[in-house]
Amino acid sequence: MSSTTNRSLPLLGRLNEANIAHAVRDGVSDVLRTNPTTQSLGDDAFRFFEEALAQVEERIPPTRPRACETGCAYCCHLKVAVTPLEALRVVSALRKSLDGAALAALAAKIRDADARTHGLTTDARVLAKEPCPLLGEDKRCIAYEARPVACAGANSFDREQCRAGFESTRGDVDIEYYGLQPRTAAAARAGAAAALFERGLDGRILELVAALRVALDDPKAEERWRRGEPVFEPAVDRELEGS
Ligand code: SF4
Repeated sequence: MSSTTNRSLPLLGRLNEANIAHAVRDGVSDVLRTNPTTQSLGDDAFRFFEEALAQVEERIPPTRPRACETGCAYCCHLKVAVTPLEALRVVSALRKSLDGAALAALAAKIRDADARTHGLTTDARVLAKEPCPLLGEDKRCIAYEARPVACAGANSFDREQCRAGFESTRGDVDIEYYGLQPRTAAAARAGAAAALFERGLDGRILELVAALRVALDDPKAEERWRRGEPVFEPAVDRELEGS
């Protein structure tokens, strides 16, 4: 992982999405003033989410232990929202961990997955059961350390409910989970996106697979994004943008 700044989130006042989003926006804005690399900025933004979640959990802990564990990947078959910053952070990590042949094979796998999922709604993605192209054979994320905040927000109190939800053909299984975790993730993502916009960068909400395709297929994607170009336009997801 790249170096990050020492900037920490302040203690949040009232616990609500707006406060979390404002704190993360301020944190990301501060880091942006130091002209960081894209990856270290992404690492900092993720750390701000973790700090916000730690504060949330301390004040309102989950009522039950979470059942999530390595090798359980039902939630890695869902539609994932990301900012361009998060997509570039994932791809930066992949470029470091994979050799040229493996990266080319992964890029082809991502193109195939995007062809099957592009434009599907969240509900349609539940029924499609399409695995994230970053999910390895061993059911582990190959970019776990650089995963999006949406992935880190997903959780469940009951693995059996996740299995039943995954196997359902109607998508009508209730899954009990610590709701403040995805809400904190969404607020942190919104805060980071606001900071990007303030600095003239595209902070629109993208669908993960399509965003990875853009970031991998265009070797100048990061450079162009940092110049303020709308390079991620093909990955903008109207449903996620509007939610
Ligand atoms: S990025 Fe990783 S954690 Fe997120 S859905 Fe894909 S495989 Fe799962």
